[in-house]
Amino acid sequence: MSSIRKISILLIISISLILFFLGSSVYIYLSNYSYADFYKRLEARVSVAEKYHFETNQKDAQVLKNIREEHLELLSNEKEYILYCPNANSMKQLADTNSLPINFLELVYTQQFANYQKNDIFYHGKIRETPKGFYFIIVSAKNYYNTHHLILLKKVLFAGGLIAILVIIYFIFLFSKNFFEPINKIITKVNSISTDNIHLRLDEIKNTVEINRLTSTFNNLLNRIEIAIETNKNFISNASHEFGTPLTAIIGEADVALLKDRTPAEYKETLQKILKQSERLNKISQSLLFLAQIGYKDNKLNYTILRTDEIILQANEIMNQLVPKNNIKIDFELLPENPTKLKILGNKELLILAITNILTNACKYSSNKLVVVSLASTNNEIVMIFKDQGIGIPESEIPFIFEPFYRASNTAAYDGYGIGLPLTQNIIKIHKGELIISSVLHKGVTIQVKLPVATL
Ligand code: ADP
Repeated sequence: MSSIRKISILLIISISLILFFLGSSVYIYLSNYSYADFYKRLEARVSVAEKYHFETNQKDAQVLKNIREEHLELLSNEKEYILYCPNANSMKQLADTNSLPINFLELVYTQQFANYQKNDIFYHGKIRETPKGFYFIIVSAKNYYNTHHLILLKKVLFAGGLIAILVIIYFIFLFSKNFFEPINKIITKVNSISTDNIHLRLDEIKNTVEINRLTSTFNNLLNRIEIAIETNKNFISNASHEFGTPLTAIIGEADVALLKDRTPAEYKETLQKILKQSERLNKISQSLLFLAQIGYKDNKLNYTILRTDEIILQANEIMNQLVPKNNIKIDFELLPENPTKLKILGNKELLILAITNILTNACKYSSNKLVVVSLASTNNEIVMIFKDQGIGIPESEIPFIFEPFYRASNTAAYDGYGIGLPLTQNIIKIHKGELIISSVLHKGVTIQVKLPVATL
């Protein structure tokens, strides 16, 4: 049995039990109350009857009788008995002639007064001693409340409980259907996602916060997996090419040096060339490792609220150290007045790294021409724009520019490994942002980085 069914059945059983106990308590309380209340009514009638029967003054007796008739409503099947009993032995005969339960008379006789119930007839009686002997004063009546009202109450409680349970069953099944249907959809969609179509994402489902959190968590996971898969996809071919070039250079240098005996100066020169290529190899392998890690790591652990203008300024300071001749101009004219619109949730070091990568390329491929950085924000998005006046990227090559090791055909004169831009894009992706690149060849490149404003 599915867990949905189990939970639904458990809920229905619990609610039914609660309703049953509530109904029973109401019924027991009211039925006890009806007994006590009815005996009190009989008792009141017995004491009034005693008063007007044994009142010596005839006039007063008549007044009492009138008051009783006027104010004490007649109960159903109400009967009044004033029975003279000369002695205890005549009780049996008295009971028979008046069709009264002998047990009841005995009880009244021993206790002076008593309540009694036989079927739905209720009795209250008391003893009145007189010099001639004693009298039983008894009033009996049918407990209409008990026979009619309580049966009605029982029916109402039963029917009400049954209807309530049916309504609850209906709502529980409706709720579980509405709640679990999206989960089933998610399961089907997740099953259809494989490495071939890893770009697919789960749709957001309206009005269900928890399920939306689940889908966005899963989508984030897919983002990271996609980054990792993309990084791995071209890794072998690109890496072998990138590693191959310096390795060939190293082997070539060593081969040439070993052809004949060399002077110390020549060995030194060869070693320097080998060292340079080895450093290049080291740099490539390190950046590659970092690129791969970005896709796997859950960097959210180091997320803090950051101001984007401060991040740009810090990246600019780093640029001043790395490329002292840079010509970067920061334009904060479009800056919003409200500083909360500049805040994002993110990892400071990674974001600074991403921005310095963009700025390094802008300076490098424009030979330190003017680079303008501007910052703007809408209600839920912050946009950073980096505009340079460099060599640009051939339009047909833009789709490949984010592939690791890819370098555009016009970059032969510039140093580089083709890892900075994919790394930057991955950093922006894990911040739920977007990196858009546009370019006009020989005119320059414009990169837009969009990041979601932090919800405080
Ligand atoms: P590289 O180390 O080659 O600069 P990147 O990964 O940073 O590697 O960039 C990938 C490629 O994107 C570069 O080789 C270059 O062709 C292109 N590119 C990136 N930024 C610019 C830019 N500002 N101007 C021209 N080309 C750029």
